[in-house]
Amino acid sequence: MTLVDTDTRQAALARLREAVGPKGWVEAADAGTYLTDWRGLYHGRAAAVVRPGSTAEVAAVVRLCHEAGIAVVPQGGNTGLVGGSVPHEDGAEILLSTDRLTRIRDLDPLDNTVTVEAGVVLQQVQEAAAEADRLFPLSMGAEGSCRIGGNLATNAGGNAVLRYGNARELVLGLEVVLPDGQVWDGLRRLRKDNTGYDLKQLFIGAEGTLGVITAAVLRLFPRPRQREAALVAVPDPAAAVALLARMRAGSGDAVTAFELIQRQGIDFALAHVPGTPDPLEAPYDWYVLVELTSPVAGTDLRDKLEAVLEEAFETELVVDGAVAASDTQMQAFWALREAIVEGQARLGPQVKHDVSVPVSRVPAFLEQAAAAVAAALPGVRVNAFGHVGDGNIHFNLSPPEGLDAAAFAVAEPGLTGAVYDAVAALDGSISAEHGIGRLKRGDLAARKAPLELDLMRRIKRAFDPDGLMNPGKVLP
Ligand code: FAD
Ligand code: ZN
Repeated sequence: MTLVDTDTRQAALARLREAVGPKGWVEAADAGTYLTDWRGLYHGRAAAVVRPGSTAEVAAVVRLCHEAGIAVVPQGGNTGLVGGSVPHEDGAEILLSTDRLTRIRDLDPLDNTVTVEAGVVLQQVQEAAAEADRLFPLSMGAEGSCRIGGNLATNAGGNAVLRYGNARELVLGLEVVLPDGQVWDGLRRLRKDNTGYDLKQLFIGAEGTLGVITAAVLRLFPRPRQREAALVAVPDPAAAVALLARMRAGSGDAVTAFELIQRQGIDFALAHVPGTPDPLEAPYDWYVLVELTSPVAGTDLRDKLEAVLEEAFETELVVDGAVAASDTQMQAFWALREAIVEGQARLGPQVKHDVSVPVSRVPAFLEQAAAAVAAALPGVRVNAFGHVGDGNIHFNLSPPEGLDAAAFAVAEPGLTGAVYDAVAALDGSISAEHGIGRLKRGDLAARKAPLELDLMRRIKRAFDPDGLMNPGKVLP
């Protein structure tokens, strides 16, 4: 990092204030929510919190910071789970929020694209698409507050990846402010473009370490006309994986979501939303929430769903279940699924793991990881759930009943090591969809191949030689 004297910093901060104007400047007293992450793991400080109102203002801010050697932390909705969106505690960085970049610049139903600024909330992109009779399929529990720039910077996944791919697969073009303040206009709408390296893909998933995404061209799809869902109990995760294959074949590949839920998760969710009845008549160890959609109305999708489930019941892949009889019931299934995350968060400390393995190895992973954490800390409560159709499991741990937070924190490195060893043995990944941020930098350094780390460092240096763009995140 360039060494710059205090006067230059002060002068740069004064110019920043001018560059963004009164609407774009957050007084220190109001900065609190920008400086703590969603999980409350990090409480940063910032030399300034700015909210530029346009790409030109973002560029001006980044240029001034570059000249003065001040590091920039980009932030969207601040719902990230790995501490990437908040500054460090020394107060040297500035925080750049995109929460005023909220314009939908264009929606083209023939190109099937929507061009949005980085600060548009995900749910608003979904709504704009629906108004135009289209679907923007990215969907997750945080969709009411996460912003598209953050979704792309983290290459977010969510509930419909199985059918539509993750954020990376939903982008045609990007506009990015580079670490020196130049604006790269890559807002193309091309489905095909083989003119050398695909630069946009470098910024997607870079968690703000290579530049500030200011706008994106996103892909749209036909809006589903028919939606069916079922919540079923399965004897074990192996049955869930087998059921997925049968459901895909039996529905004409209409599966949009296929979520595995362990009983512990249902208990957390029910505790979080008091008054919610148990979803099935009896409690079971494992559940699957499956959703099918069709872009055509009035098809026999429900019949297909029921036929696959009936056959699965006869062959004991499914032991109980309910097919949603109405939209309300379908929403209730999803509300239960989404309540797991907040339910567990409210019940005290937890260690979260967001891992992936090949889909066929999910059962082996669950078995091996559960045995390993039980050996490391007897009585530890496993809440494994997630996007089993993508091989992505949220393997979250709560302390044994009665163990205090301090003792649980002492056990944490051993637990995480045990989970990541199981992942490595099955050729998996220690971060499937949440990213690395600050939380998992050490694990990345320890577990990524040295050659891959070296290539990543070289890319970082090529884009950001002074190390001013979200430093101390992702790369060790
Ligand atoms: P932030 O938290 O603000 O930032 C995340 C990272 O991106 C940071 O490193 C930040 O510096 C960088 N960044 C933000 N904006 C920009 C920009 N414009 N340019 C460059 N860098 C930028 N994630 C999933 O993938 N799937 C899920 O199913 C899912 N479910 C969730 C459920 C809940 C209840 C919560 C709280 C979170 C969930 N998440 C999930 C995690 C989180 O919502 C996603 O990572 C989301 O994509 C983050 O978006 P954000 O706008 O909040 O980004
Ligand atoms: Zn998830």
